[in-house]
Amino acid sequence: MTKELFQPLSGNEMPRFGGPATFMRLPACTLADQLDVAFLGVPFDIGTSNRPGARLAPRQIRDESRMLRPYNMATRAAPFDSLRVADVGDVAINTFNLLKSIDIIEKHFSAVLESGAIPLTMGGDHTIVLPILRAMHRRHGPVGLVHVDAHADINDHMFGEKIAHGTPFRRAVEEGLLDTQRVVQIGLRGTGYAADDFDWSRNQGFRVVQAEECWYQSLAPLMREVVAKVAPGPVYLSLDIDGIDPAYAPGTGTVEIGGLTVPQTLEIIRGCRGLDLVGGDLVEVSPPYDTSGNTALLAANLLFEMLCVLPGVEYRA
Ligand code: MN
Ligand code: MN
Repeated sequence: MTKELFQPLSGNEMPRFGGPATFMRLPACTLADQLDVAFLGVPFDIGTSNRPGARLAPRQIRDESRMLRPYNMATRAAPFDSLRVADVGDVAINTFNLLKSIDIIEKHFSAVLESGAIPLTMGGDHTIVLPILRAMHRRHGPVGLVHVDAHADINDHMFGEKIAHGTPFRRAVEEGLLDTQRVVQIGLRGTGYAADDFDWSRNQGFRVVQAEECWYQSLAPLMREVVAKVAPGPVYLSLDIDGIDPAYAPGTGTVEIGGLTVPQTLEIIRGCRGLDLVGGDLVEVSPPYDTSGNTALLAANLLFEMLCVLPGVEYRA
């Protein structure tokens, strides 16, 4: 029996500003629907250290995804021609309790993975990647990681707390969730407290690509190095929108100057094609600071680009 494939609702069937706001105007489904890929939101921002608002991002990203059409004109990816993709809604976090929310998120993602779907997640602040990686570990063992961010997110604590949006990858290493020899962090920059803010990552075996190493050039050559480092084996892709320069993505909580361009970010995602990607997220969009909607629009496009490089996507000649 061939599986039923879903297509984003066309602008010729319903105006793009009409109808319910699911990601790319895909059907709203449940995990029982045997999806290949599940878009879902985690409306969580109680792990944020500076400007809040990422709890509002899943809805805003869905709204700004309304213009996305199903075919990738640049890469020729036609993800909806071979993969069964839908929007499975949001994780019902407990916004009054961070630790309980972390457990809720982990259980939810374990269920997504048990259903056989690859999760593509709309955050939420970056705290959410810790419970996601816990769920990933249960299914896949230690995973490789491609992490785009202005920050390393490897603090030991923030204000004394072990779980916050600046600590997830330190916890992930401590818990054995990552294959530390298959981790790359790209776009790191800004002011710090000490060199160890980034060198701790290097000391774990991560490849750290600071933003300055990216300036003025294509990242296609870098991505060949990245693929060689993280493959083979399951790889998770985590994209903090603040990795991109605030000129393009001002709607976020912890802004750093001198970041990646949008074309460079597309090169990073497209460069992940061929990897055994087991999931991805786009985090830290803060709609209250995104007055034009451009940050959420960019986030929506980057999530579509992630979909276009997942295993099983067909490319039309
Ligand atoms: Mn981050
Ligand atoms: Mn960041």
